[in-house]
Amino acid sequence: MATVTAHHGSVPVATMQRDDRDGRTGYDGRMGYDGRTGAAGNQPWAGHAGRHVTATVLIVEDEFNIGRLVRTYLERDGYGVVWVRSGEEGLVELERHAVDLIVLDVGLPGIDGFEVCRRVRASSSVPVIMLTARDEETDRVVGLELGADDYVPKPFSPRELVARVKAVLRRTQPQRPAAELLSCGSVELRRDAREASRAGVSLDLTMKEFDLLACLLEHPGLALTREQLLEHVWGLEFPGGTRTVDQHVAQLRAKLGASLTIETLRGVGYKLVRP
Ligand code: CA
Repeated sequence: MATVTAHHGSVPVATMQRDDRDGRTGYDGRMGYDGRTGAAGNQPWAGHAGRHVTATVLIVEDEFNIGRLVRTYLERDGYGVVWVRSGEEGLVELERHAVDLIVLDVGLPGIDGFEVCRRVRASSSVPVIMLTARDEETDRVVGLELGADDYVPKPFSPRELVARVKAVLRRTQPQRPAAELLSCGSVELRRDAREASRAGVSLDLTMKEFDLLACLLEHPGLALTREQLLEHVWGLEFPGGTRTVDQHVAQLRAKLGASLTIETLRGVGYKLVRP
């Protein structure tokens, strides 16, 4: 991102002056700090201009250099970022917008990060990663007891923080299915509604039959090994091993009739034949 280094020298000073003038400590910190004039610079919730925003992160950090750095790294990774510099403002933003994760400094003017975390947890399960200057176990324990999801002691590498953000989001966000509607020939499957139909007539599938059909529909014409199907559909549970796959394919074939062809690949697995 070329914009990061462009105007650091002068703009933060202007931002600070504006803070002093109107007595606010947070709102100006999140906009236009690097002199950008595009959408991302002026609309705090727009994220990195021109990129698909994967999640929105609220940064509550009073230290300018740290807030700026964290924001830069998160935006570079495609996150939408809003940055405020006090806990009070963080709570206001949380009420107003859909935040996917909070990066929360412990040492803040006004109410501290622990208190912010306590108040957030009173009404929300949004993931929280706490930042602190003190590498003390008690702080870590307090933060985690208050419901923080992770804890990063300062000084930290921004890359590490971004990795933690990703890991926490992976852990806490339900994975969105790649496609809600899958179809092949006359068979349609709506994953969000967990409905499958053949020529418009609803199919009565068990949970695993449904997942197996979804997996086949995702890979039409491709050879899928029994092991791949097991891993996709059953995950870490392997009741009966690969025979389970054979059994469920047989059940699926019976229910699908001639509408779909699931070919057996001897010694390999199965393939959904394109119509
Ligand atoms: Ca601080």
